Amino acid sequence: AQRILKALSEPYVVQDRTVVITASIGIALLGSDGQDVNTVLRNADAAMHAAQDKGRNTYQFYAQSMNVALAERLSLESDLRKALERDEFLLYYQPQVDIRRWDVVGVEALIRWRHPERGMVSPASFIPLAEELGLISAIGDWVLRTACRQQVAWRATGLDVSIAVNLSAVQFQQPSLTAHIAEVLQETGADPHKLELELTESTAMQHAENAVTIFHQLKAMGFRLSIDDFGTGYSSLAYLKRFPIDTVKIDRAFVKDLASESEHAAIAIAIIAMAHGLKLRVLAEGVETQAQLDILREHRCDTIQGYFFSQPLPAELIEQLIVNHRRRQRSSGSSPD
Ligand code: C2E
Ligand code: CA
Ligand code: CA
Ligand code: CA
Repeated sequence: AQRILKALSEPYVVQDRTVVITASIGIALLGSDGQDVNTVLRNADAAMHAAQDKGRNTYQFYAQSMNVALAERLSLESDLRKALERDEFLLYYQPQVDIRRWDVVGVEALIRWRHPERGMVSPASFIPLAEELGLISAIGDWVLRTACRQQVAWRATGLDVSIAVNLSAVQFQQPSLTAHIAEVLQETGADPHKLELELTESTAMQHAENAVTIFHQLKAMGFRLSIDDFGTGYSSLAYLKRFPIDTVKIDRAFVKDLASESEHAAIAIAIIAMAHGLKLRVLAEGVETQAQLDILREHRCDTIQGYFFSQPLPAELIEQLIVNHRRRQRSSGSSPD
């Protein structure tokens, strides 16, 4: 199995592009892992899923516990397929705060799945599954529509914040993406100047030529654009310069150890300097402590997002939080230092 994986993972060239594929291999043996071919194949499949869960590009021998895990996964899959029509998704919003003015300038929409038995399921576990099952377009569509409606509702109450929406890699590759987004704008009456679309650095760079074109189209429609999880992918500065983006979001990984680990601090600080050199705004993700905030402020980071200010919350609570925060700000003009 090791040899097969090695052979498969060699890069090869298709139409002038280098392609790397990886495989997940499941192994079940006739005899010890089943008495008939069907059973062995089913168990090999369970082992293959276990290999995928282990992080892909690896192999796994079958073990009985894997069938339990597979059954679990299949039930989650079938529940996920029904979640949209059962109206089990909701959006939480997390504030983005201007460091200098200490004002909430936007919120990021983060999807939640309220499962009838499992409770809240994290998007980190169901978004990849939704991509695999081909459900992400429908879910992404729901997210965009819901965020647009929320923006219109907030605008009606006089609350002025922009909403950031995550685009998945799969959505980004759909040729109809921009036409579809235009349709949602029209139907909801949302203002694209108050909407920010987030694409991860790795997706943007993987489809860089495409990204240049699509970003220009979205920009022309009035959207703000940001590169998410920055620092974790492999950026080409040449492309970064060609992308008509507004913001880079420093990944939480580099913010986490900002106050203690000098290498991560060095990366975060270098990203801020580079982004400002390219005339981009910088947002630091996952800010949890005053110490992190102080370092970011010292290095002129523009915006923060993280538990230090607020966790992601349902729309009603976020609305209250922003209104109360602005009221306090007006009466005291205070900032956290
Ligand atoms: P992301 O886009 O990088 O979102 C930031 C994640 O960091 C969120 O996790 C947020 O709750 C978490 N976070 C924010 N501040 C802090 C902090 O101070 N400390 C820590 N430890 N965590 C913090 P969440 O909501 O679980 O989402 C995870 C990922 O799922 C997102 O990462 C994004 O990639 C994906 N996701 C969420 N909603 C959507 C969506 O509507 N569409 C798509 N395509 N992906 C989504
Ligand atoms: Ca994001
Ligand atoms: Ca992120
Ligand atoms: Ca992330």
